[in-house]
Amino acid sequence: MSFADSIIIETDEILAGRPPGVWSLDYDGFEPEHQGLREALCALGNGFIVTRGALPEAQADGVNYPGTYVAGLYNRLPTEIAGRTVENEDLVNVPNWLALSFRVDEGPWFDIRAADVLDHHLELDLRRGVLTRQLRWQEPDGRRTRMVQRRFVSMKDPHLAGLQTTFTAENWSGTLNVRSGVDGRITNCGVKRYQGLASRHLTILHAGQTDGQTIELQAETTQSHVRIAVAARTSILADGAPVAAARHLVAEPGAVWHALALPLDQGRPMTVEKIAALYTSRDRAVAECLLQSRQAAQDAARFDDLEHRHAAAWRALWDRFDIWLDAANERAEMILHLHIFHLLQTVSPNSIPLDVGVPARGWTGEAYRGHVFWDELFVFPLLNFQLSVLAGTLLDYRHERLGAARAAARAAGYQGAMFPWQSGSDGREETQRMHLNPQSGRWLPDHSQLQRHVNIALAYNVWQHYLITGSVPFLRFGGAEMLIEIARFWSSLATYNRDLDRYEILGVMGPDEYHDAYPDSDRPGVDNNTYTNVMAVWVLLRARQALDELPLHYRQEVMAQLSLDAEEFGRWADIARKMRVVFHDDGALAQFEGYDRLQPFDWDGYRAKYGNIQRLDRLLEAEGDSANRYQVSKQADVLMLLFLLSPGELRDLLRGLGYEFTEEQLTRTVEYYLKRTSLGSTLGAVVHARVLARQDPGQGWRFLLQALESDIADVQGGTTAEGIHLGAMAGTVDIVLRCLTGMQARGDVLWFDPLLPPDLASLGFSVHYRGHRVDIMLTGDHMSVSCRPDGPAPIKIGVGTEQRELASGEKAEFRLDRGPRKPQAAGLA
Ligand code: BGC
Repeated sequence: MSFADSIIIETDEILAGRPPGVWSLDYDGFEPEHQGLREALCALGNGFIVTRGALPEAQADGVNYPGTYVAGLYNRLPTEIAGRTVENEDLVNVPNWLALSFRVDEGPWFDIRAADVLDHHLELDLRRGVLTRQLRWQEPDGRRTRMVQRRFVSMKDPHLAGLQTTFTAENWSGTLNVRSGVDGRITNCGVKRYQGLASRHLTILHAGQTDGQTIELQAETTQSHVRIAVAARTSILADGAPVAAARHLVAEPGAVWHALALPLDQGRPMTVEKIAALYTSRDRAVAECLLQSRQAAQDAARFDDLEHRHAAAWRALWDRFDIWLDAANERAEMILHLHIFHLLQTVSPNSIPLDVGVPARGWTGEAYRGHVFWDELFVFPLLNFQLSVLAGTLLDYRHERLGAARAAARAAGYQGAMFPWQSGSDGREETQRMHLNPQSGRWLPDHSQLQRHVNIALAYNVWQHYLITGSVPFLRFGGAEMLIEIARFWSSLATYNRDLDRYEILGVMGPDEYHDAYPDSDRPGVDNNTYTNVMAVWVLLRARQALDELPLHYRQEVMAQLSLDAEEFGRWADIARKMRVVFHDDGALAQFEGYDRLQPFDWDGYRAKYGNIQRLDRLLEAEGDSANRYQVSKQADVLMLLFLLSPGELRDLLRGLGYEFTEEQLTRTVEYYLKRTSLGSTLGAVVHARVLARQDPGQGWRFLLQALESDIADVQGGTTAEGIHLGAMAGTVDIVLRCLTGMQARGDVLWFDPLLPPDLASLGFSVHYRGHRVDIMLTGDHMSVSCRPDGPAPIKIGVGTEQRELASGEKAEFRLDRGPRKPQAAGLA
């Protein structure tokens, strides 16, 4: 046994005492109205491909939606809408490797909605990454059959996936017919409101048989010309050994199948094993994807062996990412596991060699077309701590698209780099020009690309990555360039108002998407969005600081490469002293200039009328009204400042601009927006949870619980089926890790300042810090920190005001002061 194995086993022992429920998501029966949700939540993936948890025998039919997506594989199609041609770039639904249908004798093919189903159960094993389905059904003549179906998408061998189906005839003997196929007839039709848009992204190039056990299909995207090849090997086993069964090839336009006749004996299980290999022409170290997929399917080991390798890869990931809560919070712990599980299915060590970003909805559905938004702001903090190499390569996705961002800035009359609100394959702006309000059925102009604050998110992520890794090469060969180009963009977007002797940022949108213009104005955007203005200053200061952090020769290189001079620094400094920030009369920060002059909103009336009012923008537009007229916010906007900055940092920034901001103003600001936010984005509850975690831990915890329910309870009433919400998922995990513990890497000390909410008695997890794996356990008024053996030089741990040095294999115990804290001491200072 290797040393690493012994550590994993030791960890396993600690974990063994936990209720199994914290590792599984279970569903009974079949509920058509929830099938899409189950498919998204039970999706399996590995950072390269993701396959929805669809029933293998199902086709897209309005209830079922099989979908397999390759990370970052997009295609662009034009559509005529309302007299205009619009172009959208979509994440492509690729040929379905899962397809497997069955029937008893020559009866109808099994259809869960038509059959007499005795039992149906799905269990997603989060620890092993395996989805198991149990089914029992009865034919009209009384023949009963049992089926156990297991599947994985290999975390270890990223091009391989497996489906194992075991049939047992309970009270009969005879033939069970099975068709195991690869179906290329799929289109992108997973999102109802996109159904008026072109959806056929694939041309089938070839479908046929590789050998007696393997079939293959190759398709190509119509515009991006990426080839996708899937080969699937299907074998039959009884008592663990291969058996012969009659089989023939069925070729349909766009699909290919092996039809198998299984001779079932009563009570004797027979297994159909399908191993699929998927390659694309974009993959590295691949000459020809069809040949590669053929070879991989033919050479692949058996299902059990592949599953074993896959589960071992997950085990290593859980050893890093696991979170443990006390028994009273079993559901919260399970959901945290589910969130980590989806994060790692979207981006994992398998993504490191890929040219992909962090998609807002994972690769689990077609909502937002697989695009990359500012949501990565909620994902990077966690990855920076837990898997910083991956975070670095994901930042490369943006760096590689700096050219497109520079071009976009130039085209709009600005300098530097203006990254798009929605990004896809090549970094151009992918935000749709028109969007459909399903509530009214109207196509409306979409101004959301004015959310220039996405450029703040990128800069923030770059800076945090540098702070946590301390990597000077990262800063020199990418990080500083991004910060500086983004700073330049903000500097050129800011306009000088001579009357006020202040700089302003006009005509943008903040994170709150309810406000895309002033009431009855033809000009899109609002002026002086506080989040944007303050954070633009923060970016200017960090860009300058990044240069100062570089050794002189590097600094000179960067300055020469980017033609930076004193005049430009002068303007940055001037803006950082004179940016305008608008306050309400009572001293609270204004979301934007004029927000307090908008009409108050009748929250109770609308709640009574509609129940769920998260999407007030749609409800109001359908009534012929507009959210622009009211003091309503879809999600945190001003409060984003307190999500990214400590109150002290915010105060310093404002002071630098000549504004005093008192504790009382801060409290008033928080209260004001909490009352006016509908939480129409799943990101909203995450931000509120973080803002309140230290000010009012009980209320913060309630927001966190609400954020945890976002996807599992489908709180938006149908959106999760179209793709999970990755920002909210990763954000909840990050709050537990960094916010409840006050964990912060500062100087050469890893600091903690825990403040668990009253409903959470204990918390355990591990983090990666300076080459060490550090296990942290918090219980009541006690905290232990241990370094696993065999690490590099000792590290420093700080808790409260106490500091200790910790060497490999050592454990330090700290007593926590759990007395009531004043907000001041708890981090509001
Ligand atoms: C939110 C945005 C978010 C986008 C993608 C929208 O509903 O308002 O903040 O970036 O979804 O998740």
